[in-house]
Amino acid sequence: MSILDGKLVSRAIKDKIADRINEQYVSNDVTVPTLACVMVGDNPASKIYVGNKEKACKYVGFNSVIKYLPDNATQREVAETLIALNEDKNVSGILLQLPLPKHLDETALINLISPSKDVDSLTVTNLGKVFAGQYAVAPCTAIGIIDMLKYYHVGMHGKHAVVVGRSLLVGKTVATLLEQHDATVTICHSKTTNLAEVTKNADILVVAVGKPNFITKDMVKEGAVVIDVGINRTDKGLVGDVDFEHVKDKASFITPVPGGVGPMTIAELMKNTLVLHEMSHNMHFTQENSKKHNVRTLTKNIK
Ligand code: NDP
Repeated sequence: MSILDGKLVSRAIKDKIADRINEQYVSNDVTVPTLACVMVGDNPASKIYVGNKEKACKYVGFNSVIKYLPDNATQREVAETLIALNEDKNVSGILLQLPLPKHLDETALINLISPSKDVDSLTVTNLGKVFAGQYAVAPCTAIGIIDMLKYYHVGMHGKHAVVVGRSLLVGKTVATLLEQHDATVTICHSKTTNLAEVTKNADILVVAVGKPNFITKDMVKEGAVVIDVGINRTDKGLVGDVDFEHVKDKASFITPVPGGVGPMTIAELMKNTLVLHEMSHNMHFTQENSKKHNVRTLTKNIK
């Protein structure tokens, strides 16, 4: 069994971005990208995630802005915050930290984010591009899983991938990306009958359910690649959706929790921020006719 080390891959991606920021931006006195996070309420897990995103921005050399709104913020107040960030020329990317308090309409607010600043790629416009296979940025967790598989040279072509969970944020999107990488994909959810019979046939098993130790050893095929997206806070600390201790002996590759998919999500957020920043500055740089700052080329190179 080999560990798919999300911390290691995430660091490699962030180091590449940091190098580019130093070489192409700082050295040439070009304004660096800015990521804005909007956080509503004081959900302790969300606070940690937003803090980690801020740390990652510092690491790669981006500016970061955090807009805190109270738990009782109205739909209109959150909307106005997002619209102001859309209009702010200094902001390259906007992330609305989820989940939002129950009284807010999450879908409506996400869709207020300008697609050109939608770093989590969750607006219906950007998701449409992902499902059509015509995207510049894809939802961070889903694309993070694909990049991790590529980093470890885990082939997807012709493999049977089973994804447990069908959220837009993770399950449905990673299933689409796996299919676009030529896997044959089965999606499972809470109404799936005989789940174990399906998961036992998976060459690549992705689990995004949100239930601690939900996937047990008997549900996994010998030699499968197991990707555990779940983050569950228990008395024993953070655990995934996969019973890691027992499943690891059967898997050929497996992600740990923590240290697997989580760090990849943050690295992809940095990458998406850079990509959107460079896309939005393309015209500006072209007008300046400066080959040195040909950001289109730079954007292509990081993929
Ligand atoms: P959702 O709650 O949106 O989706 C959970 C999915 O699991 C649903 O599709 C649901 O099915 C399915 N499900 C629930 N019970 C069962 C069951 N008994 N059998 C089969 N399927 C079931 O969660 P998310 O997709 O947003 O997140 C999933 C997990 O991943 C959470 O633990 C979350 O914290 C974590 N996460 C981790 C990230 C990271 O960076 N590592 C990023 C995002 C999420 P149905 O649709 O039928 O209800």
